[in-house]
Amino acid sequence: MKYIIIGAVAGGATAAARLRRLDEHAEIVMFEKGEYISYSNCGLPYYIGDVIKERNALLIQTAASFNLRYKIDVRTTTEITAINASAKTVTAKNHITGKEVEEKYDKLVLSPGADPIRPPLPGITENGIFTLRNVKDSDTIKEFAQQNHVKKAIIIGGGFIGLEMAENFHNLGMEVTIIEMGNQILAPLDFPLAAIIQQHIRSKGVDLLLNSTVTAFEKNNDKLKILLKSGEELSADIVILSIGVKPDTRLAIKAGLKIGEAKGIWVNEFLQTSNPDIYAVGDAIEFANPITKQSMNTYLAGPANKQARICADNIVSGNVEKYKGAINTAIVKVFDMTVATAGTAAKHLAKAGIQHTVSTTYGSSHAGYYPEAKQMSIQIAFSPVDGRLFNAQIAGYDGVDKRIDILSSIIKRNGTIYELEEFEHAYAPPYSSAKDPVNIVGFVAEDIIQDKLTIFYWNQINEISENDILLDVRSEEEFEKGFIPNAIHIPIDELRERMTELDPAKNIFIYCFGGIRGYLGQLILKQNGFKSVSNLSGGYQLWEICNKEIKLSRQPEIQTA
Ligand code: FAD
Repeated sequence: MKYIIIGAVAGGATAAARLRRLDEHAEIVMFEKGEYISYSNCGLPYYIGDVIKERNALLIQTAASFNLRYKIDVRTTTEITAINASAKTVTAKNHITGKEVEEKYDKLVLSPGADPIRPPLPGITENGIFTLRNVKDSDTIKEFAQQNHVKKAIIIGGGFIGLEMAENFHNLGMEVTIIEMGNQILAPLDFPLAAIIQQHIRSKGVDLLLNSTVTAFEKNNDKLKILLKSGEELSADIVILSIGVKPDTRLAIKAGLKIGEAKGIWVNEFLQTSNPDIYAVGDAIEFANPITKQSMNTYLAGPANKQARICADNIVSGNVEKYKGAINTAIVKVFDMTVATAGTAAKHLAKAGIQHTVSTTYGSSHAGYYPEAKQMSIQIAFSPVDGRLFNAQIAGYDGVDKRIDILSSIIKRNGTIYELEEFEHAYAPPYSSAKDPVNIVGFVAEDIIQDKLTIFYWNQINEISENDILLDVRSEEEFEKGFIPNAIHIPIDELRERMTELDPAKNIFIYCFGGIRGYLGQLILKQNGFKSVSNLSGGYQLWEICNKEIKLSRQPEIQTA
């Protein structure tokens, strides 16, 4: 058997190593058009930011070490320029020697990854405008920044890589601006959680321009001019374009392979393309989203690695394992905070027509009385019918990674919010609380499903009419610092005595800081004959953050003539 692998990083190198483990006698050839194989793209922003000091630390394997360990013929700087599917051959061009060869295969694995999007804007090819995908890009960016003593950086795109680059440039002492076309950063998240991170970014002195579209670049002496649709002009020494990626389907298209609805290489559940002898994995493919059932791409290292293992098993043993899809579980460090997501965000559930309820709760990274405990905000989306968990998003300072992994595993196996209540965690004060934030998420969701808790949302405040009552149950001190317009104030501990001040025939909308006192207030009023009482999910703190961000982000762009 002869296996050929195209692309030698996350998906390709993993598939190659697994193929060798399963088939000691096969001939395996892996082609990589770049200089390096099996490196960590994920570490590149931190290498540029000097957090990772040793460049070699990113290079997990070399062609020689891979060959020694796995007896795989690794050919770097060699690009596959064509696949002849009927003859079962590939054409390989060595970029150093210029030589072209044909290689035969029995089975082929495609793992060419995704290309950063570089729109054809005027001036986009000016020196100083970079994308970041591989080691070479990181070398170029680092060298440019050092040689030109870069002081001012503009990051275009507020996605995961954009934010990592913003933080790393900021840590190097640069003045950083992020320009984002959408009305929020981190598109896989819903607005409230993105708003929390936006506030954090701004608090670090990074300028964040939302609803802002770049239309052109110009270079004046050493400075780059960035022109916005609004007519505004910004200047920078360096620009990082991180506005997204698209699956690299060039070879697949040329070879006549089927491309799917999400513009990725179409594969079946065994990761086999439309040609049974060609398999594909990683950023280049698409598959059905396990929640919405719609075609999706995922640009994450975890799925690429897992697909590669399944693909190799299927090649050697004959389609034995099905790929169940990915739920886009992702995490990113943003200065002191961490934000993570798993599953399908509420806005995307809505688009897919999936009925869902959203709930926001807060939890402590560990017992509040033990030093350094930090709050985390957790938003979930679940089915109000059977409690199936569709999505979790968490923003916090500590312990976010642990909680998202728990929630992700439940979403992945179609679990429900009831499992969150039962989830048994290891507890001691430095690690958690007797009720972990994950349990609390489940308790609250169950109360919502069972109508013990009725909630309303921060963006429904404007719908409260003057015939309704907006009731703030926080303390005097909290109220004096700020409140939602038109709220009346009765602190929770006085509510039993003072409820006669409220008209039981009116709709009552309660809020407190985070939701717990509001919930208690709701129960007190309901059990005393008040018919319509609801509690603000996420409380005053979420309303305040979202409002601040709405004010900062909803500046409509001035159209240029
Ligand atoms: P890649 O790893 O990109 O490998 C594809 C390889 O194929 C490339 O080296 C390319 O040169 C080669 N190739 C393409 N065409 C040919 C051809 N015709 N002939 C020969 N070789 C070819 N994911 C996370 O989960 N967490 C993170 O924190 C994270 N951070 C990231 C940070 C950065 C800066 C980047 C760029 C990506 C990050 N990712 C992260 C994404 C993750 O790296 C990718 O999802 C993963 O590498 C995809 O694996 P892949 O094998 O599909 O593609």
